Amino acid sequence: MTQPHVSSLPGAPQLARRGHELWLEGCRLADLAKVHGTPLFVYSKASMRSALAAYQRGFAGRQATIHYAMKANSSLAVLQVFASAGCGFDIVSGGELRRALTAGADPAKIIFSGVGKTRAEMRQALQAGIGCFNVESESELEVLSEVAQGLGLRAPVSIRVNPNVDAKTHPYISTGLKDNKFGVAHERTLAAYRRAASLPGLKVVGIDCHIGSQITETGPYLDAMDRVLELVEAIESQVTRLAHIDFGGGLGINYKGDTPPEADALWQQLLAKLDARGFGDRHLMVEPGRSLVGNAGLCITEVQYLKPGEQKNFCIVDAAMNDLPRPAMYEAFHAIVPLTERQAASTVYDVVGPVCESGDWLGRDRALAVQPGDLLAVLSAGAYCMSMASNYNTRGRPAEVLVDGEQAHLIRERETVEDQMRGERLVG
Ligand SMILES: *Cc1c(COP(=O)(O)O)cnc(C)c1O
Repeated sequence: MTQPHVSSLPGAPQLARRGHELWLEGCRLADLAKVHGTPLFVYSKASMRSALAAYQRGFAGRQATIHYAMKANSSLAVLQVFASAGCGFDIVSGGELRRALTAGADPAKIIFSGVGKTRAEMRQALQAGIGCFNVESESELEVLSEVAQGLGLRAPVSIRVNPNVDAKTHPYISTGLKDNKFGVAHERTLAAYRRAASLPGLKVVGIDCHIGSQITETGPYLDAMDRVLELVEAIESQVTRLAHIDFGGGLGINYKGDTPPEADALWQQLLAKLDARGFGDRHLMVEPGRSLVGNAGLCITEVQYLKPGEQKNFCIVDAAMNDLPRPAMYEAFHAIVPLTERQAASTVYDVVGPVCESGDWLGRDRALAVQPGDLLAVLSAGAYCMSMASNYNTRGRPAEVLVDGEQAHLIRERETVEDQMRGERLVG
């Protein structure tokens, strides 16, 4: 397995080699590891801002809002970067609502997705005055109407439709196929809108879809757009006008030489379709997660032991599946590069963590010239890594640093065992 060429490091240009050393913006990563220890997540603010700017360019001159899907990385300071740039948020729980508000989100720009919203979460979101509930089933419509009426309010709703298109991505992160749990089936959509329009606690404001994640082709988006616009036509002629159209998120990033479309180029094509069908004047919404943060982050880990074997050589590091679950969960690829390059022959290793599971690996068959004590960077780790981290094996979750030029801000302390045991009780 080859290492990515230096100039194509996922995360470039903010991530770059200077001499033999890896830098993120104006910070040498080895220095950050020395100060904060490992495993350590490090994020580039400039990288997040430039990913957001690509969407903003795509929507220039349009009525549009970008709602960061915060489950990708919900650390407060990351949310703050987006809130301060005018972003809205796509939330999936009451906990995410609290985080977004704490980070300074405008409640009116919060939308609430998810198939299993509880009544308590609905109440919290209604009281906060969020912009829209993306409703995922007909029974949720009934419950939301009841809850809103109980508060003397009307809940703004959009129905998430399942356009039944194949996003051509990993089955666990594909969400727009008939057999997925998400959204209302295409053929039930009109009936669901009729019901929504008749319920006293609801106010129909839009339509939404989200077909999957790590999408690297334009085709599935264009297909989904066609299907959604067919529905918009039918809903508007038979039920009610829709103020907004929300196309969800899902745009992929470069993990391993992947070449997803740029957000601005993708939106040019989608907007052309929208205009051609006469819906160019609607308020547009998108819910990108991974494409705003994925390549902005990395995880620094220290090599603990090298363990040569007959079949496999293992490079045992201090980060594990609890810190960075994507390889174990999805067999996902993350590039792994040394922080300081050694001028030595490389050996092929499986890079694994200390957790007691064979699924605890970060990379397979990687050619590395390393020694115990060396530092490695697991790249493209800004999305769905820290936000999925757990305490399995009673491991504290890593610290996080946000880099802004030459400044490095500790944005989350390393979790201690005391943090983990808080709230637990011995019996008797
Ligand atoms: C996860 C999710 C997103 C974001 O997906 P990305 O692939 O990270 O862009 C957007 N909308 C909904 C409803 C989601 O569940």
